[in-house]
Amino acid sequence: MAWQRPMKSWVKAMNASAIARLQSDGPCSAFLMTMWRPRFFCPAGDAVLASVVLEALKEQVQQLGGPAAYVESPVVSIDRAKKTVTTEDGKTIAYSKLVLAGGIWSNQILSLMGLPLLPLVTSVEQQTYYATPEGTEELFSAGKLPVVLEHNPSPEPEMKRRGGYMIPHVSNGVDGVKFGMHRQGPLMDHEDFPMVPGAFAAAQRYFACAGTRAERLWSQRWPEEEDSHLREETDAFARRILPDLSIEKSELTMRCPYDQHLYADEDFVVGVHPEDPDIIVVCGFAGEGFKFGPAIGEMAATLVTGGSFAVPESVQRFRLNRPSLLLLS
Ligand SMILES: Cc1cc2nc3c(=O)[nH]c(=O)nc-3n(C[C@H](O)[C@H](O)[C@H](O)COP(=O)(O)OP(=O)(O)OC[C@H]3O[C@@H](n4cnc5c(N)ncnc54)[C@H](O)[C@@H]3O)c2cc1C
Repeated sequence: MAWQRPMKSWVKAMNASAIARLQSDGPCSAFLMTMWRPRFFCPAGDAVLASVVLEALKEQVQQLGGPAAYVESPVVSIDRAKKTVTTEDGKTIAYSKLVLAGGIWSNQILSLMGLPLLPLVTSVEQQTYYATPEGTEELFSAGKLPVVLEHNPSPEPEMKRRGGYMIPHVSNGVDGVKFGMHRQGPLMDHEDFPMVPGAFAAAQRYFACAGTRAERLWSQRWPEEEDSHLREETDAFARRILPDLSIEKSELTMRCPYDQHLYADEDFVVGVHPEDPDIIVVCGFAGEGFKFGPAIGEMAATLVTGGSFAVPESVQRFRLNRPSLLLLS
């Protein structure tokens, strides 16, 4: 598979002027000269439409597993003694191994199963699609602009990292250039997203959003409205990367949940649950999970079936029982 090739054939470490030369006729070449160090360029990088990918995956599941393999009804109970899953429409499905890929609902589902929760915290982030000036879509499209992912320093040295990203205009997607900040949204203090003891205090100490949002850190309801703090951050980011793009006019602003975690690292959470060897948990992607879907799926399949892992070190790095930043009194 393409993504199993050594990383060096896909990603080049380059200095800023070399990257800027590749995009010398593009509207963000001046910004590319100023990027944070180190800089990596992936010539194969591009944007994909998630909705199209999800439909294709659904078709694959149905083709390979038959119509019964894809169930839309929510899971309402899981009996670990009998090894069954029951859905809202009354179906009971037996399992030998169960992969739980519940995103921001992972702790809710673990609690349903009577298993200890993980140090997960849900945040609600935001993306803004800034309108391209009339007749200039092509200039701001993927043919002219790279996707930019920027890792920013933490507001306090002990805090986790934050970042921002820009995705060029994609002709069959939402109009405009997409900007978002990583891990700067409010955190959810809500029963739908249960947290382990110590997570509340640890999030206030270790999450970068605590250093930038001050009293606007926690939200007790799902925020639907535009977040002014995040809008200011993406406005500043857009102004810096693409000064020719007007930040006044946006095509769309979306809110988007992230499943963040309080492990003492920035890795994903993929492994066997320490209290039940038949449960494999896959979560903690903090807004970066989609692009790693095939690799994570393969890792989960290997955890179920056995065999050798494509990236052996991921087993230790992503395991569930690793050191956390929880503050226990
Ligand atoms: C707007 C937006 C933009 C993003 N852009 C990017 C990007 O550019 N690149 C990138 O890599 N990542 C991106 N992400 C992040 C990426 O989408 C996530 O990291 C990824 O989807 C996580 O996958 P997951 O399977 O862990 O969780 P999810 O995709 O959240 O899947 C969890 C699933 O569990 C289901 N579920 C929950 N409870 C139950 C229940 N009781 N019964 C049955 N099902 C249940 C949910 O319905 C959901 O389908 C973005 C996220 C958002 C919201």
